[in-house]
This record gives sequence, structure tokens and C-alpha cells, in this order.
Amino acid sequence: MSKTKYIFVTGGVASSLGKGIISASLGKLLQARGYKVTNQKLDPYINIDPGTLNPYEHGECYVTVDGHEADLDLGHYERFLNVQTHKSNNITSGRIYQNVILRERRGDFLGKTVQVIPHITDEIIRNIKQLGTNNQFDFVITEIGGTVGDIESLPYIESVRQMLWTMPKNCCCIHLTYVPYLAAAGELKTKPTQHSVKELQQEGVQPDILVLRTEHPINKEIRKKVALFCNVDFDAVIESADVETIYEVPLRMQKEGLDKVVLRKLGVPDDKPADMESWNAFLDKLNNAKKEVKIGLVGKYVKLPDVYKSITESLIHASAYNDRKLNLKLILSEDITDDNADKILGEMDGILIAPGFGERGVEGKISAVKYARENNVPCLGISLGMQCMVIEFARNVLGLKGAHSTEIDPGTPHKVIDTMEAQKTMLQKGGNMRLGAYNCNIKDNTLAKTIYGKETISERHRHRFEFNNEYKTLYEENGIVCSGINPETNLVEIIELPKHKWFIGVQFHPEYSSTVLNPHPLFINFVKAAIEE
Ligand code: GLN
Repeated sequence: MSKTKYIFVTGGVASSLGKGIISASLGKLLQARGYKVTNQKLDPYINIDPGTLNPYEHGECYVTVDGHEADLDLGHYERFLNVQTHKSNNITSGRIYQNVILRERRGDFLGKTVQVIPHITDEIIRNIKQLGTNNQFDFVITEIGGTVGDIESLPYIESVRQMLWTMPKNCCCIHLTYVPYLAAAGELKTKPTQHSVKELQQEGVQPDILVLRTEHPINKEIRKKVALFCNVDFDAVIESADVETIYEVPLRMQKEGLDKVVLRKLGVPDDKPADMESWNAFLDKLNNAKKEVKIGLVGKYVKLPDVYKSITESLIHASAYNDRKLNLKLILSEDITDDNADKILGEMDGILIAPGFGERGVEGKISAVKYARENNVPCLGISLGMQCMVIEFARNVLGLKGAHSTEIDPGTPHKVIDTMEAQKTMLQKGGNMRLGAYNCNIKDNTLAKTIYGKETISERHRHRFEFNNEYKTLYEENGIVCSGINPETNLVEIIELPKHKWFIGVQFHPEYSSTVLNPHPLFINFVKAAIEE
């Protein structure tokens, strides 16, 4: 395509309507027509990134290959489109303001008063258009976080308005709203949608397409009414009904003609239908699995499943791959002790020890590891989960009493998990987190080698603490194999226990790179072990 097209996705009426999934689904449909597509998320909060946010505030913190701590919607984009995102795919108000203020200090504005309009909006537009430089992409789909009418999102909507006005042929706006069903009246109500479109119009933006989230089918009359009152074409009123799985959404959107309307609005010929064959093949497996696999996910955030989004989705991909339905039990690590572990974990086919930070629930994770190790239950430890495997082995096999991670017990007599010397000096600078993709060499004749089938892999990290190499020989003499090693730093990235049915700990986060079309081999193999008799 000659020029990059920009599609904006805004939301109204309520939050959590699934803008991320709609954006990813549209991305998928356009990609399946042969276009190069990228998805971007603009977050109106002031934090520079979600790295420091409590997971209960904002769900999982996703990590891109280039080491950016990002909104979890980027995970949806990668899982749906099977392409990597980067720092430029997620922008927050914090970053926008930081850039503008830095430039102001540098004197870039030549004595001018620095204002939201034009300086903040210019910076927002620059960040959107940056993805369109050098014709890297045919379509840039930019999702605006929050709901229309929020004070915080005003500069973003204004930026959308300016882009729609200055590049009308290359931009369009999709607005996602909610159509509630009033049981007492037995009716779907469109007034909130009308109000939310009015709000958007007041801010100068006329949406081209409306996507209506609903729990009940939207009939022709309602579509006509919404189209007429909101100035959109009849076929640009798209129903987004509740579905069993998010992976159904691209097909629903295709059926509703979302991609067709988008192409028409942007003047792109609708000449090649979206090829969703491989997607459908995945969905078939997902929907037709008869038997289930029961996985216990041991973590400290069980009230909000979004905290473990990527892990859950990776398990769903891997289960479908193995023709199994995932039965996932979120288990609060604080509830587990050595004495009750068999009661809580006894029915699980596999146990996954979740990543995490801080002390809460760590002893429960260690007890869960002990149970899995002693009872030969397939067990995957991710990041803190791997560290708990290391600690458990030290205490219960190596006889190192009080062994711990210095993150939790700085005074432990056996620092089996510790920060490295180089990091200690960086600590003062605050830049001591290992973030993003690192290479890892895999040892021959190990389970890891069988799983990955190659010498060198690259996986994403997000942690401060590491396996302490001073203890490596002792672990290896007692049955642990350090099967993955960072070639530059010699740090241990994968451990396994060959005597066990399936016991692997990884310092990195494989869950960030499992996609619908490329389920992650570690998860595939973990589920496979879990269902083996
Ligand atoms: N808290 C641990 C560390 O910082 C593990 C982090 C994680 O699980 N991602 O090393």
C-alpha cells in the first residue's frame, strides 16, 4: 500500500469492554488479508510505564523483546498477530510529558509557552505516526485507553481529531460502547451509546464505525436506530456479543464485516478475503477437545485472573495443541503448607509455580514445589517459581538450612538466589532489573534440548535476582541439571531434574512469547507431560 493507514479505537460507556481484543481481532483480519499491521496502545495514566504498578491495579505487566514493561494488551496483540511489539507500541501520558519536559529544559521550544495543545498533542501524534515511518506497516491500529469523557484522555482524543482532520483519507475511528440489557423492561438500551457518541462528537470526533458490546443479540431495528442517531452507516454498526473464548472474536468481527467496512472507509479495495485457515484450525482444536487437563497455578494474585494473563493464555494454546480442555485452578500460595499440600494439590495433573515479587506467599510456593518434586507431578517454575525450586532443593535435598533468596531474607546463611556483583553497583542507579530478551545456550542431552530442539534460544526476562553460581556444583552433584546458560554472563537460566517425570524451572518468562499460531514449546511439553499416564 502506498501510504500507512491509521485506525483509532476509542471506548465509551464503561471500561473493560474489550477494546484490546477488538483491536487485536481487527489487526488479525487485516493481517490475514496480507497486510502488514501493528497495534499500539496509548495509556492516559501518568506512570512512565506499568512496571511499578501493583498487578491488582492494572493486571499483568507484559514485557517486550526490547525490554519495555508494557500494558497487557500488547500481549493480546502479539498472541493474535504472531508478531513482536516494541517500546513504541505502548505510550503513556507519563512518557509523553517526560519527553516534552525534557525538550523544554533543553530549550527546544525557543521561549514559547509549552502547552497541552499543541505541544502534548504534537508529541502524541509524533508517537502514533512514528509507527508509520518508512512504510513499515500498511495499518497502524491505535487503541486509546480509558473511556471517552475522562479528563485524562482529552489530549489523546484531540490528537485523533487532528489526525482525522488533516489526513481524512488515511484515518478512521472505531468507537466501542456497551448496550446494556434491562431485564425488567426486557429491552436493550442504546441511550448510553448515543450519549457516549455525543461526548466524542463534542470533542470533535465523529466515529466511522461503532462496535456495540452486548450480552443479547442486537436486531436490525436497534442497528438502524443507532446508525441514524449517531451518524454512522447501517453496516458500520457492529455487534460484539459475548463469546466463549476471546479467540472467537476475530471470526465474529469478520462475520459482522468489520474489516470490510474499515477498508471501505479507508478507500482500500476489498479484493482479497482474510485467510483464517490456520486460525480456524486452532479454534477447532480448542473447541473440540473432549478430555481436560487440570493445572494448578500457584500464585499470590488469585482474585484477579488478569494478573496471570499470558500464563493462562499460553496454557490454553498448549492445551488445545494437545487436544485438551484447560481446567485451570488458581491456587493462593499463602494457603499451602507442607502439611496440606497434598489436599490442595492432590488432583492436579501439573503444577505451575508463578512468577512474583516480595515475600507474601513464597513459603507456600516452596511447599508446592516440595509436593510436586516428591510426588513426581509435572512442575514448571517461572522466574520466582524457578527460584522457589532452587530454594526448596537447597533446604530439603542439599540440607542447607535456612537457604533463601536475598530478596526475601537478606541475612540468609545460604544465598542460593542473589543479586550479582555487577548489579549491586547498579542498584544505586535504580536500573538493576534484567528486562527483555536474552540469549540462552542449551546443554545437549537435556529435557530442555528435547523441548526446544536447538542450541541457542532467546527468551524475555523481568527480574533482579539470579541463581547463585557459587552453589552450582553442589546442585549438579545432587541431581539438578543446569540446562540453560546465558552465554555472556554464565547465569543459569534453566534448571531441570532428570530423575523427575517433568521438573523444569526457567528464570525467564516463556509466557510472553506463546501465540495462537506458535504455542510455546515449554508449555506444550509441560501439558503433554501432565496428561501422560
Ligand atoms: N522477584 C524475583 C526477582 O526479582 C522474580 C521476579 C519474577 O518472578 N519475575 O528476581
